[in-house]
Order: sequence, then C-alpha cells, then structure tokens
Amino acid sequence: MITLADDEKAIASAIKQLSNQAGSHSPSIFTIAEKLPQLEIKIDACFLSNSYATDLVLEDFRKELIHTNKIKKVIEFYPSQNQVIADVLSTHLNVPARNIFIGSGASEVIQAVIHNFTTRKIIVNIPTFSPYYEFVKEGIVVVYNRLDPQENFNLNIEKYIQLVEKEKPDTIVLINPNNPSGGYIKLSDIQYLLNRLSWVENIIIDESFIHFAYEDENYEIKSAAMMIENFNNLIIIKSMTKDFGIAGIRAGYGVMDKEKVGYLLRHGHLWNSSGLAEYFFRLYVSDKFQREYEKSRIRCIQESRHFFSELATMPGLKVYPSMANFVLAELTNGATSYDFVSKLLIKYGVYIRDCSDKIGLDGEFVRIASRTKAENEIIVDSARDVLQNAWEYKEVSY
Ligand SMILES: *Cc1c(COP(=O)(O)O)cnc(C)c1O
Repeated sequence: MITLADDEKAIASAIKQLSNQAGSHSPSIFTIAEKLPQLEIKIDACFLSNSYATDLVLEDFRKELIHTNKIKKVIEFYPSQNQVIADVLSTHLNVPARNIFIGSGASEVIQAVIHNFTTRKIIVNIPTFSPYYEFVKEGIVVVYNRLDPQENFNLNIEKYIQLVEKEKPDTIVLINPNNPSGGYIKLSDIQYLLNRLSWVENIIIDESFIHFAYEDENYEIKSAAMMIENFNNLIIIKSMTKDFGIAGIRAGYGVMDKEKVGYLLRHGHLWNSSGLAEYFFRLYVSDKFQREYEKSRIRCIQESRHFFSELATMPGLKVYPSMANFVLAELTNGATSYDFVSKLLIKYGVYIRDCSDKIGLDGEFVRIASRTKAENEIIVDSARDVLQNAWEYKEVSY
C-alpha cells in the first residue's frame, strides 16, 4: 500500500479537482503551478514528446528568427494559406499537395474529419485518445472495441475485421502506435487491413507517434501516408506535437482524398495556421534540420527502450510493451494509481498520467513518458522508492 500523509492527502485531492476540471486530459503543469504553488514539478512525464527535438527547434528559432529579427515578419504578417503549406510538405512526404490538409494541431484535423465525414457510426479501440469519441456529433453511434490486456492491448486483426464487418460503420480509427497503450500495428498489417476493409468510407490512421516506432534496427519511419495513392478512403492524421516537442506551436496535418481536402478548405479551414507553425513546417522539411532531427529521434528511441526495461524491473508494476515514447503500466500490488501518482508528484516532483479516467482500462493504470536520459533516471529512482516503501509497509502490516 502507498500511504499518503495528511498534508499529502490535501494536495492530492486538490490535484484531483484540477484534473476533474480539465476533463479527459491531464491539467497542464502551468495550471498546477498556478493553483498549487507549494508543489514543485521537476519532471513532466505526463507530456509525451521528444524533448531533444524541442531543443533543436529552439536553437533554430534563436538563430534564424530572434537574432535576425525575422520574428517581426512572422508575427506581423499573415501566414500562407493551407495549400501553400501543404505544398511545402508535399515533397518531403512524397504525397501530392492536393491530398494534404494542414491543421492547427492534429486536434483540428480530428475535429474537421469527424464532424464532416462521419455520418453514421464510428468504431474506436479503447483505451484511446479521447477526442475520437468525444468529438462525434450527436446522433452518431460510437462502437467501442476493447483491446485485451491478455493480448497486451495489441489489435487482434482478424477479430477486428469481423467486428467491422458486423457493425458496418462508416468510420474506423486506428492510432498507431496507440495512445495510451503503445501498441503498434506493422505497416504490412495496415496494408492488409486496408485491403480487407476497402468498403469502409473513412479509415483514420493516427500516426502521431509513428516517429518513435520501428520495425528493424534501421529505425526507418513506417508511415502509411503514401498508400493514399491506392486507398482513397484512407485518412492519415499526424500531430507534430509529440515528435518535435512543440505543443505550443499547434502544428499537424492530415493526408486524405483530394475531395475531402477540398471540402474542408471550402468550409472554413483555409487560414488556420499561425506564422510560427508555417515557419516550423518550412524548417521541418529542410535537409539540415532533418539530419539533426534524425539523430535526436533515434537517441530518443534508444533511451526510451532502456527506460522501459528499467521500469519493467520494478516490483508491483506491470509494464506493457510499447512502440511509442511512453509506456502504459499497471499497479499489481494493491496500490491505487491515484496514490502512486500523488506520491510521485508531491514527494519527488515527478508528474505522470493517472489513467483512471480512461475508458477501456479496468484496474490501476498509469502512463509514463520517456523524457531526457537524466530525467528518466530520476523517474526510475523515484518510482522504485515509492513502490519499495509500499511493499515494505505491506509486509510490516501483516
Ligand atoms: C496528442 C495527440 C493528438 C493531438 O495533437 P495536437 O497536434 O497537439 O493537437 C492527436 N492524436 C493523438 C493520438 C495524440 O496523442
């Protein structure tokens, strides 16, 4: 058992209140810092990003935007329209610009797609990223497909196809790798699914974490975006937030049928990027940035692997296999996720995600993000401390 002292209980319950106000997302560290100044958050392992990439982007911003004063133009003038930025991305993605829709974060793309193209029924795998069912309009049927913990929350492809054939939805969603479980579907399996389910009107594949996944030691990114050529029901949704650690910039995009892109542009999503987002997209496709970014991406993958294996050695913590930059972990010794998360935050300043509000998870689950190497070491030491104390306490109390 993890025991909270009285003062810790008070803080834990204040955090809980902030969480409730934040809906299905964890409160940001800014909110917590503002409302609970007595808390010192040292590491935000709720937030899922490659923080080495953030430093890379910042370095460029300092040199090329701030020092040159180009920042003035970026904020004074209108940025380009959607299709101009799509054109910038086109060569890099190897996808025609007419198939690319730029969003102010992937959240906008999710909202635009689900509001405009889902008309009857949607199937989402749970646990999931909540906007996929929260954003659906009234009257649309949501079918939840529970991923099985016995199968490590991996998608069972044949069972899934059977479900889709039975339910006949117009939209299905696959997050690859999945948030919050980290489960990954290989590119060859995606191709197989697309072939089998060619009659489904909208097949959404959210690749917001695909940069952290790999299939062999080349660490090549296995995006399905190019398959748009053969499957016009495919909709790739991609956030730049996680891979590049730039949640504040709000940059994402979708790859979809050109008719769909055209429809969205005619219905209000024309001028939806900020100057900073446009600047970022132009930076992203440059060779120099790509070379540096690749190094940071592979470093992040390798350090995440090491981090997960360390976490897997903890007593009372079951770590599920993940191909993302975070892991889903289950407390198996009777401790609650609430007590574990509270203790880590209050005593060690380590903030991780309590998954008790995630539908599709029965039990005590947390999601832990891989941060920098130094931060990961602190997370491991703190978690071990909390869990070992919990274990010893349990033995004494018997
Ligand atoms: C975070 C996240 C998004 C949204 O990202 P933004 O670009 O910041 O809006 C979309 N999909 C998944 C699966 C995510 O985890």
